[in-house]
Amino acid sequence: MGSTEGVMDITVGVLALQGAFNEHVQLLRQAARMLSAKDIVEKNWIFKEVRTESELKSCDALILPGGESTTISLVAQRSNMLEPLRDFVKVTRKPTWGTCAGLILLAESANRTKRGGQELIGGLDVRVNRNHFGRQIESFEADLNLPFLKNANGQGFDTTQSPFRAIFIRAPIVEKLLPNVAGEQEGEAKVDDTVIAPSRAIDPNVARAINVGEVEIMGTLPGRAAALKVDDSRKLDAEAGDIIAVRQANVFGTSFHPELTGDPRIHVWWLEQVVEAVNRRPNP
Ligand code: GLN
Repeated sequence: MGSTEGVMDITVGVLALQGAFNEHVQLLRQAARMLSAKDIVEKNWIFKEVRTESELKSCDALILPGGESTTISLVAQRSNMLEPLRDFVKVTRKPTWGTCAGLILLAESANRTKRGGQELIGGLDVRVNRNHFGRQIESFEADLNLPFLKNANGQGFDTTQSPFRAIFIRAPIVEKLLPNVAGEQEGEAKVDDTVIAPSRAIDPNVARAINVGEVEIMGTLPGRAAALKVDDSRKLDAEAGDIIAVRQANVFGTSFHPELTGDPRIHVWWLEQVVEAVNRRPNP
């Protein structure tokens, strides 16, 4: 970030090793136009594809797109990006959002993956279950109510009035919230077919400005009973739904693909979070 004459420069990267990165860049541009109509301090948004460590270093925030998490992690490993990505997310704690495969990479623990076959970045104290809903042909769309959008963009984006149409493609879900531990999620390493992210210590200067805290559930996909509109409130309670959006401090993850819908509401909300984080950041 820099600023000239009351204009705030904010650089947002989209990891462009594989997957739907271009779609995110398009939607970020659309979201920034919506935000700038309400700006008090003018922002100079820079959106860039990120493939190298130096490109990552120039970013104030980052999106990890959907795609294939094993491929993204393999390419990241070969291009020496895994460690810089872990530092970005877990040490300097800059705002990072992962969609679908991106959510998998940001989890501290993921199952249904061959041991040694995939490396995680981590940052979210959760275990994800990959391909939870089955294969590509079992992809589906669903209308979501996402309460966190209610106060976004000044007047709010009320999803009870206008639901968020979400696309799930071989999507993961968050199947377990893990305790916020300093270091590694050791217990998870003993779970069959599970990989965990290596531990990282948060930068002490950043730690003073940010409280990592527990994982917040930001959205659920109503279970089968709710989808069938069963008129029985007890059943609906029992079917609270699968967790498909979470946040922990600077890290946000969604199971679905907002970048494939053309609906910029989550991007607008997230850019607002980025502005807040940049304003809060300790001076070097
Ligand atoms: N199932 C994929 C994976 O494991 C994610 C799918 C997606 O991003 N659409 O990486």
